Order: sequence, then structure tokens, then C-alpha cells
Amino acid sequence: MTSSARPYLNRRLAEFGTTIFAEMSALAVTTGAINLGQGFPDTDGPEEIREAAVRALRDGRGNQYPPGPGIPELRNAIAAHQQHRYGLTYDPDTEVLVTAGATEAIAATLLALLEPGDEVVALEPYYDSYAASIAMAGGRRVPVTLRPDAGRFTLDLDELRAAVTDRTRLLLINTPHNPTGTVLTRAELAAIAELAVERDLLVVTDEVYEHLVFDDAEHIPLATFPGMRERTVTIGSAGKTYSFTGWKVGWVTAAPELVSAVRSAKQYLTFVSAGPFQYAVAEALALPDTYYDDFRRAMATRRDLLATGLTEAGFDVFRPAGTYFVTADIRPLGEKDGFAFCRALPERAGVVAIPNAVFYDDREAGAPFVRFAFCKKEEVLEEAVTRLRAL
Ligand SMILES: *Cc1c(COP(=O)(O)O)cnc(C)c1O
Repeated sequence: MTSSARPYLNRRLAEFGTTIFAEMSALAVTTGAINLGQGFPDTDGPEEIREAAVRALRDGRGNQYPPGPGIPELRNAIAAHQQHRYGLTYDPDTEVLVTAGATEAIAATLLALLEPGDEVVALEPYYDSYAASIAMAGGRRVPVTLRPDAGRFTLDLDELRAAVTDRTRLLLINTPHNPTGTVLTRAELAAIAELAVERDLLVVTDEVYEHLVFDDAEHIPLATFPGMRERTVTIGSAGKTYSFTGWKVGWVTAAPELVSAVRSAKQYLTFVSAGPFQYAVAEALALPDTYYDDFRRAMATRRDLLATGLTEAGFDVFRPAGTYFVTADIRPLGEKDGFAFCRALPERAGVVAIPNAVFYDDREAGAPFVRFAFCKKEEVLEEAVTRLRAL
């Protein structure tokens, strides 16, 4: 089927038009609405890390092609971080690969590991690049839908088991989960790990929000579970953790054979990227634990501000255990179509949100949910909440 609007776009990508973020950000501009759509901070990360990037650039470090796998300083720092935080040991030379953000890590991993027609079981709602990357790799996505249950979007482990077939090549997991804010528990992760081992599956796990967990939620990397280290590709990124989303420095940690496969695909995508930023991110990864504690505390305050405000405005709020986002149910406001709601919201209330349905194959399941980002200044969130209370 060809789309008349995009006559040249191939069949693999035909269903992926321009992203909702472009449409909603344009609406924010024309209406002057507060943009809580896209998940990027409105404040840069630590000054000393920004200065480290300036210094690298001035000193001529990284201004020419860095090494294909990433500069040794950064690979060492990534390995040290996995060791220090999680007790996971990776060889910086053979088990770490620096990528152009987590986005390229996801694309390269799927391009490297999938044969055409292979099935990828992924948690729905999906982060938006998953479906497109699976499609570009010729794979087939098989969603397992997280369903609202007691204030949390919950994984049904029986549904997950049932989704695995003889054609399943890998499980694509994301925890802390965007857009729902769910952080998978130790028991849920253990069950995923058991299934992967039992069915001999590879697991790709997107852990870009590893440091953004709140209250007593704990991020536990899937690679730490029995039998998982050798079958898991773990994806991380500096963007969300250090509030430099524009730098696009991400990474993969995995067994040598897996890293080698991913590197084969990655070298023909970007080859390398972000030279001077790699030096700065190496310094960021060496920040003391207090950095993460302070960051988490500041973000938890913002989450509370937004979640409470949305509740007072009449939404049914899923208080996130992690990430940048609050998902809210619009039905208590007498609405049921998140698309229509989000298209009207800038005019009605001067705030931009994203309809979660864009993250679903099962649009019906996602219809009543909308996503607001809280990685914004407190005064911005306060103003947004004041506007939304007028709904
Ligand atoms: C933001 C985000 C990414 C992309 O990270 P980059 O490093 O900016 O490419 C990947 N996965 C999830 C779940 C995200 O929210």
C-alpha cells in the first residue's frame, strides 16, 4: 500500500509518518502553550560536565573521528559504572560499545540480531522508536500490553509467556518504562529472566531511566539475573541521566559476541559520533553517588507537583515509580479519546500533552491515556497545573 501523502516512502516505513511530537510541539508554538509533550529537560545538566565538553573541544579531543567502539575513557567509565552500581563486570574493550544515543543502540541491535520475519516481543505501550526499528530490521512486533491495575500499569506474566512462539527471536524490555512510569519489580524481572532462559531468547533491555526511580522503587538490571548476562543487551544513555539529551551519547553493554554483532550494524549507521561529548560523559559517569541522589530527589519533587496537580484537575493519575512522565486517564473528565483531547488541550488550557495511543498497536487500549512530562522547572509545572485546574 502506498500513501499518497508520502509516495516515495517504502512499505516497511509506510505506517510511520511524522511523529506526534512534531505535531504537538508545533501546536505549542502556535498557541503559546506550555509544552509537556516531549521529554527533554528545560535546564541543562551539571555545569562542570558542560565545561568538560567545552574543554575537550578546545583541547582538540574528539574533534576528529573517535575510535569506532567509543573512546577508551568512556568505555572504561561505562564499565566502572555498571560495576559500581550493579556489580556487573564488563570488559571495556570487548563488551562495551558507545552509540549515537540509545536510539542508535536500539536500531543497531535490532538490525544486527533480527532475521526478516523474526518476532520481537515488546511491552506495549512502546517507546516510539521500537516499532520503527523493528520494521527497518524486517522483524515483526508482538505486543504484550501493560494494563492498569491498582494504580500501576502492570505486566501480565501469563500474557508474556503466551506471546513467545518458535519465531520469537528476542524480548525487548524497557524499565523504568516510558510512557507509563512502571518500574518492573524484582519478581517480574525474575519471571522474564526465567522465560528467556527456558525459551533460549535474547533480551534487549532499554534502561535509559535507570537513575530515575522514586520512593522505594529499585532499578535492577535484567543482566544481573541468573543466566541473563550472556543473553542480554543492556542499553544506557547519558541524555536522561545527566540532562544533556542533545548530546546523544548512548551505549550497549553485553557479551563480546553480541557487542561485536551490534558494532557491525552500528559502523554503517553513524560509524562514530559526539567526539568531544564522549569525554564529557566519561567525566559525568564518574560523578559521586550524591549526584544521583540529588537528581532523583529533585525529579521526585517535580513528579509530585505534576501528579498532585493533575489529580486536583480531575484526572485519574498513575503515579510513576520512575522516568520523566506521568500517564493520566482522561475519563473522569468526561473524555475518552486522547487524540482529540490532546489536540484541543493547547487551546482549552494552554498545555501540551501526548496521547498514549501513539505508543500502542492496540489503539483502543491506549485511547483514554495521555502523557505529561515533568522534567521541567518547578515554576513551569506550577503554571501548567494552574492552567489545567481550570479544565
Ligand atoms: C529518550 C529515550 C530513548 C532515547 O535515548 P537517546 O539517548 O536520546 O537516543 C530511548 N528509550 C527510551 C525509553 C527513552 O525514553
